[in-house]
Amino acid sequence: MEVITKEHLCQNIEKHWRNQYPDTRNETLERLRELNPKTEQGIIDIVGNSTWTDIRCDECKELVDMVVVVGEKPNYESYTASICPKCLRKAMKLLKQKQK
Ligand SMILES: [Zn+2]
Repeated sequence: MEVITKEHLCQNIEKHWRNQYPDTRNETLERLRELNPKTEQGIIDIVGNSTWTDIRCDECKELVDMVVVVGEKPNYESYTASICPKCLRKAMKLLKQKQK
């Protein structure tokens, strides 16, 4: 289990970019490195879209600021889910109703 926050994504954008494009040294990477502070809007301006900073809940499908990642370690074929606090509270409520 791991918590992913918007702030964490933004602070680690340079590392994530290098993981995705390990063999390229390009202008985007340099601009991400120089971005200070590493804000969401700053990253969107450099990359050209919000795919690197968006966090979506797999249950309610909403864009959120934080999720907990549960299940298998994420990869293209893993059984992994990212769940927002609102959906986790809903899940806990459902469990509590069954425990009575
Ligand atoms: Zn949710």
